[in-house]
Amino acid sequence: MDKNKKSQSRIIIVSNRLPITISKKKDGLKIQQSPGGLATCLRSIQEEQKTVFVGWPGYWPVDDKEKRFIEKNLINHYHSYPVFISPAEIGKYYSGFTNRTLWPLFHYFSTYCAYEESEWEAYKRVNQKFLQKVIKLASPQDVLWIHDYHLMLLPALIRKSFPQSTIGFFLHIPFPSSEIFRILPWRKEILEGLLGADLIGFHTYEYARHFLSSVLRLLGYEHELGAILVDNRIVKVENFPMGIDSLHMEKLLQQSSIQKEIQKLKKKIWVEKRKIILSVDRLDYTKGIPLRLEGIEQFLEKNSNWHKRFTYIMLCVPSRTKVRQYSLLKEEVERLVGRINGRFGIPGWIPIHYMYRSLPFEKLLPLYSLSDVALVTPLRDGMNLVAKEFIVSKINNKGVLVLSETAGAASELGEALLVNVNNKEEFSAALTQALEMSEKEQTRRMEPMRKRLFEYDVFRWARSFVERIKDVKKIQAQHEHQKLNEEWKRNLISDFKNSKNRLLLLDYDGTLVSFAIKPEQAKPDVGLKRLLYSLVRDPRNTLVIVSGRDRATIEHWLGKIPCGLVAEHGAWIRKDPIHDWEKQKRLSSDWKEQLKPILKTYEVRVPGSLVEEKEYGIAWHYRKANPELGQLRSSELFDYLNEFLANTDLQVMHGNKVIEVRVSGVNKGNGVMPWLSKNKWDFILALGDDWTDEDLFKILPAKAYSIKVSYGPSQARFYLESPQSTRNLLHELVKIQK
Ligand code: UDP
Repeated sequence: MDKNKKSQSRIIIVSNRLPITISKKKDGLKIQQSPGGLATCLRSIQEEQKTVFVGWPGYWPVDDKEKRFIEKNLINHYHSYPVFISPAEIGKYYSGFTNRTLWPLFHYFSTYCAYEESEWEAYKRVNQKFLQKVIKLASPQDVLWIHDYHLMLLPALIRKSFPQSTIGFFLHIPFPSSEIFRILPWRKEILEGLLGADLIGFHTYEYARHFLSSVLRLLGYEHELGAILVDNRIVKVENFPMGIDSLHMEKLLQQSSIQKEIQKLKKKIWVEKRKIILSVDRLDYTKGIPLRLEGIEQFLEKNSNWHKRFTYIMLCVPSRTKVRQYSLLKEEVERLVGRINGRFGIPGWIPIHYMYRSLPFEKLLPLYSLSDVALVTPLRDGMNLVAKEFIVSKINNKGVLVLSETAGAASELGEALLVNVNNKEEFSAALTQALEMSEKEQTRRMEPMRKRLFEYDVFRWARSFVERIKDVKKIQAQHEHQKLNEEWKRNLISDFKNSKNRLLLLDYDGTLVSFAIKPEQAKPDVGLKRLLYSLVRDPRNTLVIVSGRDRATIEHWLGKIPCGLVAEHGAWIRKDPIHDWEKQKRLSSDWKEQLKPILKTYEVRVPGSLVEEKEYGIAWHYRKANPELGQLRSSELFDYLNEFLANTDLQVMHGNKVIEVRVSGVNKGNGVMPWLSKNKWDFILALGDDWTDEDLFKILPAKAYSIKVSYGPSQARFYLESPQSTRNLLHELVKIQK
């Protein structure tokens, strides 16, 4: 990527396959635009912003001359930049890792997965090849939109080479539950690869949730409303259900050629009172075709009244024919069709009209239009566009869709007859219901679905994704602004230097030291003690450690340092080593005995968690627990305690992996009041990392340097990344004192 390249900003679509087909004819190579696909989906954004494509052209040139010819042609006529992948690489990367590992795993067919090291290596190499192409082509102002499971390493590869790039990633297949995803030997590499993007999009909320949960379990990153902080950069995870070009489809249906085709077909297949059932699938094991056929068989067994009264047109499109599982599937499907037709067919009627081929869209439309019922019953499907196309084809709002719950489309098409395809009884009942449904009921269901598909069409999908990538960039810039960057650091240091009366308010855990698995392990190290002593040595500094810890621990660890101490979030204060601890308020601790058993139950229910008792507070820590279980139970406990303690003067706080109850009015803000109100400070610095520090931040004068040590919503003016950054800052202040 040439940083100096100044050109109009473009959208660069990077996907495995370019939207073109190359074939070798007697008179040379023939290049054609492929119908449908991403190129069509992106028509609307192409009108607004220049769009180019990067991908595999599906062809391996015989020599350099042919390669140059293809390149020139694709760039000039199709805005497409080819990444040439050799047949051997295709074998390992495409037929191998993507189709034999990622595809079955992401569709929950883990037993079909192969885990071949050499195929994974090929996957990495091909992602590198894409990187090289992107580097040559892109400039910093371009938006890169990477598509699908073939290129999941690419976002991080680009980010590493060009940290400032704008990258979106969209996954077109499901993202499986973390329990399935974790089976993959290279799971961390894949997640890290994806997190190189600024925006990661999925078809449904469920897939996004699964992804976030894998990121938490495997990499330890939590999220806040779908925002993850990775290397101090915000990555957003959202869902964008992909739509279809509904308007174009409706226009096509009105064309006279299509209308003629409909009439022609009607003459051939339409017999009075015979209903037409349709299914259109690639012949893929994820589509659940054998199960559906068994369901049809059961339906025929149980509903002899429906014999001769329907025709089921089953279109299966050849797919990945060289992969063994697919050829076995074809054999199985054909055996089942033969068995059912053999069992139930009679002269003049066979239940299933099986077609094994692909049809151009113009031939498919009349089939949609003529069908009364569509069966879309995959075992798993990222979205399923056939379901949406069938709905849009129903101009008169008549027709019934039987849809599998496990298709992504089900989350938008709730008015369809939703089925669990593994339950043949349920499937057979849904088919009966579909065939017998009144027209009024059909319209009642069809109308809202059609409306939705016109509103959220493929253009809206593409536009909203691209707009959102740009929004995320703005959010990142704002986040960057709040960072205590070099310029602000210089201001802070210079204010510190020019001041004579300084107040330094420092939280302990998560601010001066990193969190330890057990609270008692987070002892101050020698380096920290030295640093604190250096700070208090300067008479212009007043140092106060403002902690949530109990006073015994804080005294034991830091008691000798001539500084102020605040313990239990302000319940206790110690002005200096000469003075004794003082209670901030008249406090009682009787209530603790009542709460202890509740918190103890959570200690048992969440392995790894523990209860910490303080004099005037009680806390449940879940840092060491399974992160998901901890998160789940902590929200539950937080809600419960809030309910339980309503109308008392106790306060529940959700801190960093801890839930704590204490007497209200006791907070760090009140805890530091004796210092804050005492003097005329000309420099105030406050550092803290969690919610309990917010009480402190919010009472500080506007000019104070308040800094949150981690990212997240805060009253603080700035943020720093980690306790290490806090220490670096304090070291810089110490240097000035000398
Ligand atoms: N399709 C087609 N001709 C056919 C069969 C299917 O053009 O003979 C198109 C269909 O219109 C739909 C797409 O192929 O747009 C299939 O997409 P879907 O999401 O349903 O399944 P996928 O094959 O992507 O798993």
